Formats: sequence, structure tokens, C-alpha cells
Amino acid sequence: MKLSSRSKAYMIPEYSLTGDLLSYLTCGLQYRYQNKGTLPPSMPVQLWFGEFIHGVMEEAFLKWEYDKTEFPWDWKTEIRPIEEIIDLRLQVRGLYPPSNHFFTINHPDIKMTIDDLNEYDHKKLASARAEKAINIWGSDLFPLMESSEVLIKGLRKMPYEGADKRSKYYGINGVIDVLSLININEDNKIVEYLKSNEEFQKIVSELDEEEYEIIIDYKGMKRPPSDVETSKNETWDYHESQILTYSWLREKQEGKRPIAGIIFYLNELVPSKEDLILIKDDIHYHLTDAPQDYSKYPEDIELIRNWEENDEMPKLSDKFKMDRSIRIIPINKNKINEALYKFDKVVNNIETSIIKEIKGCKIQDAWKAEAEERTCEACDFKTFCKSNKNKTKEFKIP
Ligand code: SF4
Repeated sequence: MKLSSRSKAYMIPEYSLTGDLLSYLTCGLQYRYQNKGTLPPSMPVQLWFGEFIHGVMEEAFLKWEYDKTEFPWDWKTEIRPIEEIIDLRLQVRGLYPPSNHFFTINHPDIKMTIDDLNEYDHKKLASARAEKAINIWGSDLFPLMESSEVLIKGLRKMPYEGADKRSKYYGINGVIDVLSLININEDNKIVEYLKSNEEFQKIVSELDEEEYEIIIDYKGMKRPPSDVETSKNETWDYHESQILTYSWLREKQEGKRPIAGIIFYLNELVPSKEDLILIKDDIHYHLTDAPQDYSKYPEDIELIRNWEENDEMPKLSDKFKMDRSIRIIPINKNKINEALYKFDKVVNNIETSIIKEIKGCKIQDAWKAEAEERTCEACDFKTFCKSNKNKTKEFKIP
């Protein structure tokens, strides 16, 4: 009797939009050590804040849905309990808050109020940002929310064409922070922002429907420079690609077609000193789209231009901070195809490096190590990385 043999294992590589695409683009080698190895970052400040603010916003929405608490929410009685739940959840996963940015439940200053958080010295940055995110955007954002943390997946043809390719297809997955349904005639600040975008208006006039689906994403960071060519900062573009790819996945999976995305850059509501240094540069070199016309915010621009690193943080207006924290991304088919092409290109690069490594190439030779100076400075692998920008600088003979 002939015994049947077990069929060959078939594996489809999975790539996530944030975990893989954005992470690889920050630095290929760092991505290899962190994501493809099992080495979590040792100082995950940005990772912690990103997870924290996503958790706080989701929990705040659930609370609002349940008891419709009026805005503004009191920090101590309404928001702080949410922060504590999220902090505990993150600690269970091994994510501990950076000491200067957040106080845990055992902190002695338990009588503290939101005013004691003193957003201008930035000791309690995460709480100050959570409070502003809920009280500035919550009243307009929560009523628009349909569902949160929506998992989406899809398959694409493997872009790596070599005979040694691992699979014919690869999987893309992502989690949409919020899906919302908006009525264009609604009296709502966020809808007003959407309507003020010309491209969005054009899409709406062509479709002429009652309600539209919108993708919403939170980012625990400042608004990136939008002048990609001059600033050599590609993050702005990749955030747009992320929204466009979500939209493609949404159509594949559910047959729904979101017509726009909104990104909230939540650090803009309470910028840190490091954020403000970069914002000052963006404004000085005209690298930002918010604002495009400086004459609309004479006081804020003046405050930022005159601010020096050792000064107290300037008191910027809420309108200025809101305009910088919200970004509208209209969605159309051509842009979706461009975004998918970019995603394929990144997957092709990753697959090429993986296959090189499988064939015995050394890790540092198989993966592209190229990052901004700031990324190298905070990188866990900088001591042995040959491409560490700061190391090269240190040993340069003047
Ligand atoms: S030191 Fe810089 S180039 Fe090297 S792995 Fe880290 S981020 Fe990449």
C-alpha cells in the first residue's frame, strides 16, 4: 500500500500596514531586529504613547455611548479612571509608561487636578494630551463614530518575482481606528473641516448621496512636514498611503467605499519641547500645510518664531492647534492604485532581504540600514550598527 505523503507546507507572508510598512520605512535594519526577530524595543516611549492614546480614545467613546456625559469632561473624575484602566492593560502586555510623561496609579500626587498637570512643563504629557483630545475633539468626533478597531485583511499578488519566492501571494492587514458615517448637512466641526477641502467637495458633488463612510486614524505624533521633496520626510506620504490602502481593503472585504480619511495628529494638541522645535523648523522653512497662510495666525506664528528651547512653552490658540491636528485625505481610485504600488514595492524589498538572509547573507548586509539622525539616536542597535548616523559623526575628523 502506498502511503500518502504530507503536502508541502504552504505559507502566505502577512504584512501589516503600520507594523511592517511604516516600521520598515523608518529603517529596514531596525525593522529586521525588532519585527522579524523577537527583540522588542527597550525604550518604547512612542510605542507606549500610541497604544495609550488609542486605548483612551476607544474607552472614552464607549463611556460616552453608555452615559452620554456632557463635554467638557472633568479630568479627575471622568478621564483619569480611563487612563488608569488603559495603563493597567498596557502593563499586562509589558508596556510601562515613561516616568516623566505619566504617573501610574501608585503615584503619591493622587490629589492632583488637570491644572497641576501643567502642560507647559510637560511632566505629565500623556494625561494632558488625553484630556485635550477628548475635550477638544470628543463632542464632534464621538457622535460620528460607527465602529472602532475594525480589522481588515486582503490578498495581493507577490511582487517579488524570483524563482525562490516564498509564495504567490502576500496578505495585507490593518486595523482601522474608527469607521464613521457622516451626513454632509450635519452641524459638526469635523464635517466643516471635511467640507472646506475642495477635493472632498468635488467627490461629494459627483456622488450626491445622503451619508458617506469616513476612515479615522489617530497618530500619537506631531503633524509631519507636508513638503515631501524639500524636507525629505516621507512620513506625510505614507500616512496618506495607509488611509488609501485601508479604503481598498474595506471595498474588497465589505463592498463599502469610504470617500475620505481623517488623521488626528494628537501631539499637536499639547506639543512637547521636541515637537515644538520641529514645528518651528517646519514653519521657518515653509514645509507645512497647516497653516499655509501665516497671516491667519499672526500671534501663534510670532510666538513660535520667538520661542527658544529654554523658554517656557508658548500658549498657542486652540484654533491653531486644532488646524494642525486634523488632516483630511480625500480618496479616489487613482490615488489608491498609487498607494498599493508603493506597498508592493516595500513588500518586494522586504522579501528580497528575507531571501538573501535565508541564503546565508549576514543580517547587516541583507537589510537596508538608513534612517534619520533622530531615529539612530533612539535606536537599540546603534552600538553595533555600521550605518548609525551619530557614530559616523562622532568619528569624523573635523
Ligand atoms: S542605528 Fe540607525 S541605521 Fe542602524 S539600525 Fe538603528 S536606526 Fe537603523
